[in-house]
Amino acid sequence: MINNSEIGQALQKLIEGNKRFSSSKRSHPNQDEGRRQELHKGQKPFAVIVGCSDSRTAPEIIFDQGLGDLFVIRVAGNIVDDVALGSIEYAVAHLGTRLILVLGHSKCGAVTATVQGGTPHGHIGSIIQTIKPALKAAKGLPGDLTDNTIKANARLVADQIQYSDPILSELARLGKIAVVSAYYNIESGEVHIL
Ligand SMILES: [Zn+2]
Repeated sequence: MINNSEIGQALQKLIEGNKRFSSSKRSHPNQDEGRRQELHKGQKPFAVIVGCSDSRTAPEIIFDQGLGDLFVIRVAGNIVDDVALGSIEYAVAHLGTRLILVLGHSKCGAVTATVQGGTPHGHIGSIIQTIKPALKAAKGLPGDLTDNTIKANARLVADQIQYSDPILSELARLGKIAVVSAYYNIESGEVHIL
């Protein structure tokens, strides 16, 4: 799927960082004063992470990265709206980031609430409405419905980013960016590419 070497290397960096994290061998890269000084000149994050607000899923920690490495968008349920898409467009068009990873995770409260149904108070309903197509896609699949919905949601959000007009769809079509979806197991600490 990913034949561009820069994008492939970025994905490899995430995978290796997560391996360090899940095997308790974190190296805490790019977190010292030297890195701060270096970044004073500007940032060039190598990946955009679209993750969940869940406090157990902090991207810099689970991928063992530091300052200036990841451009992170986090909302409950790792979904995107126009503001999030604009943030991604900024990263790819102005910072040169080429890999976008959408990260769903086990025990996601937003997805669990969607699967359970009901009428939530306040603005939480907007999140559940956005996740509902994933629930529909996951229904009837073998295995756990919530887990399947979490994975379907990450895939659907990756599609939404990849086909977002006019900027991201064009860059994806040209192979200048790649969008991948992944699943983080909060118990084992492992990230699996979907
Ligand atoms: Zn979540």
